Amino acid sequence: MVNETRIIEEFSRQAQISSPSYREAEMGRYLDRRFRALGGEVRFDRAGEQVGGEVGNLIASFPASGKQSTPLLLSAHMDTVSPCEGVSPVLRDGVFYSAGETVLGADDKAGIAEIIEALEVLREQDIPHGPLEVVVTICEEVGLVGAKHLDLSLVKAKRCLALDTNGVDRLIHRAPGANKLRFEITGREAHAGIAPERGVSAIEVVARAIATLELGRIDMETTANIGTIHGGVATNIVPRSVLLEGEVRSHDAGKLRQQTETMQKSFMTAAAKLSRQIDGETVTAQVDCQVLADYPIMLVPKEAGIVRLVEAAAEGLGRPLEVAMAGGGSDANIFNQYGIETVILGTGMTGVHTVDESVAVADMARVADLLVEVIRRA
Ligand SMILES: [Zn+2]
Repeated sequence: MVNETRIIEEFSRQAQISSPSYREAEMGRYLDRRFRALGGEVRFDRAGEQVGGEVGNLIASFPASGKQSTPLLLSAHMDTVSPCEGVSPVLRDGVFYSAGETVLGADDKAGIAEIIEALEVLREQDIPHGPLEVVVTICEEVGLVGAKHLDLSLVKAKRCLALDTNGVDRLIHRAPGANKLRFEITGREAHAGIAPERGVSAIEVVARAIATLELGRIDMETTANIGTIHGGVATNIVPRSVLLEGEVRSHDAGKLRQQTETMQKSFMTAAAKLSRQIDGETVTAQVDCQVLADYPIMLVPKEAGIVRLVEAAAEGLGRPLEVAMAGGGSDANIFNQYGIETVILGTGMTGVHTVDESVAVADMARVADLLVEVIRRA
C-alpha cells in the first residue's frame, strides 16, 4: 500500500527547502500546495505576524469519507534547527543523510512526509475515514513558539497524534514540564588591588551558590542545569554583575517547583553569607531571579483513547508498540494544555540536531503504514 518511491521523492523535495525557525515561508507555500492537492482545505493562522515570522501555522482539514467519527488531528512542525540552509539530502543504502555540512531536517520533515504518504494511501485506496485535521507549526525549535500562538478556533479535534520523536513503533505519553531561570546578581565594584574590602564580588556569590547546588539528573523525574554565565569586566575590578541562565525540568509539578525554589534560595543564601560592612553599612549582593514557565508537564494516561487507538492499530498490524516517556518538551505539551489529548509517535529520525542526522526510507514507510491503520480505526 505504502509507496517507498513516493516517500523518497516527497522527503527529498522537503529536505531541499530551507526552513529555519521564523523563515518558513517557502515551506509553508510548498505544504499549502501539497495538502490542497490531497483534497484538504488549507488555512494559515496569524502566529507568524504575532511572533515576527514569515508565515503562520498551517491548518489543513480533510472531510470525512465513508465513515463518521470525532476528528483526529495529526501534527508536525515545519521549522528545522541550524545549520539548515541549502540542505542536500543524500540517499545511501536506503537511508537519508545530509551531505555533511547541515542537519538533514528529518526533524520534523520525516513526520510531515509520513503524514503526506498516509493521506496519499487513503486517497489511492479509497479507505473510509472520519474527519482529519493536520497542523504543521512554525518555530517549534525555538521554544514551541508556533504552538503557543496556535489559533484554536481553526482546530476542531480533541485528540492528536504528533509525529515528532525518534525511534519507530514508539509512542510518548509523558514529557516533563520546564521552567527557565534567569538570575542577575548585583554586588558592588571596587578596585581589586587598592580597595578590595570596599567591594562585594558577584562572581564569588555565584560560585558559592553553584557549589552548594545539585545539578544534572536530580532524580528519575527531574533535571536541572545552569547553562550560561556572563559577568565581570576586568581583572583589577571586583565584579559587580553576573548574569546566569538555567532550567529545571520535571515530570512532577511539585518537584519542578521545589527544585526551582532550591536554586533561587542557594543564590540568596550565598549573597547573605558574603555580605559585609562598608562605611558602617551592610552591603549584600542583590539577587534578582526571573522564573519563566516554559512549557507545562504532559501526562496522557495509558488508558486514554488516543493511546488505545495507536495500540490497537499496532496490534492490528502485528507489531510491538513501546509506550514511553520523553526527556524534553515539544508541541504536544502545549496541545495537551489546550485540552487536545496528544501523544507523540516516533518517525524513525535519528541523530537529530546534529549534522549526522538520518532517517531510513523503510522506517518512514513503516510509520506511514501505521498512520493509515490509525486513521482507518479512528
Ligand atoms: Zn522536532
